[in-house]
Amino acid sequence: MTPVEIDVQRPKGDEGGGRRHPNTCPECRSHYREDELRHALRVCAQCGHHFSVGAYERIEQLTDPGSFVEVGGDLRSVDPLAFVDLRPYTDRLLDAELATGLGDSMVAGQGRIVGRPTALAVMDFAFMGGSMGSVMGERFCLAADLAIEQGMPLIAVTASGGARMQENILALMQMAKTVGAVDDLREHGIPYISVLTHPTTGGVIASFAALGDVVIAEPGALLSFAGPRVVEQTTGEKTSADFGRAESNLRLGQLDSVVPRRALRSELAKLLMLFSPAEEEPTGDHAPPPPPSERAGLGPAERVRNLLRLRGRRG
Ligand SMILES: [Zn+2]
Repeated sequence: MTPVEIDVQRPKGDEGGGRRHPNTCPECRSHYREDELRHALRVCAQCGHHFSVGAYERIEQLTDPGSFVEVGGDLRSVDPLAFVDLRPYTDRLLDAELATGLGDSMVAGQGRIVGRPTALAVMDFAFMGGSMGSVMGERFCLAADLAIEQGMPLIAVTASGGARMQENILALMQMAKTVGAVDDLREHGIPYISVLTHPTTGGVIASFAALGDVVIAEPGALLSFAGPRVVEQTTGEKTSADFGRAESNLRLGQLDSVVPRRALRSELAKLLMLFSPAEEEPTGDHAPPPPPSERAGLGPAERVRNLLRLRGRRG
């Protein structure tokens, strides 16, 4: 049997071998009570480090209370390969479900953000490293179908180590399947906003995560097909200190903006408003719409891109 090499990359601050408590900041070592951290949207009050957020908690952070309705919650992975690594795949699935309360690494559905309806596909890294298997792919497609049926935008929030090896080719096929769903959104003129959180890597960054009409990321998130250590081993070259991080992706033009978690809900609300300007036009102090010459012939995605560019130029 061929030995399997597993590359475990520890976040900064974990050196020294000791296990870090999940509520201890890996950057500055500040420690928080669970209720404190939850109240602070899991952002370190001392240094701004963004801790990871579970799918249901993320939905709670972003949507109006009581507005979220889940779809495909009863879907579960089958094990067509009867896959066993150190343990059977079915045991790993069961353990992940017991530990997280989730049926798979993505929760899909619809809700409202500051009154605006939207479809949502939110990933959870705690479920088998946010790996993409057939259930995740199907749930993403259900969210996309919901968006098309009801004419509302789709927001995806990603966190993933990549394709789920236990499902082999079925996991890799989800890349094509989710890209097909993004294509359907585009054909129907439905806006798609992708929010990338730490870490978004492998098959997920190589498929639907990178394809948003608007792509935004949380500060410091690793967003890269392969991690820096693998790239250094493969190329024999030293990577930059912020290789693959949100800030370097922004610099290289892969992202539209980097948004701190505290501003994420309001930023998404603004985008939803820009994507559907005819509905519930807010009154009072807001930016005037772009001149008709700029709006003519542009789809909603192009309009938002133009506005983001304008805002960037204004600083
Ligand atoms: Zn900190």
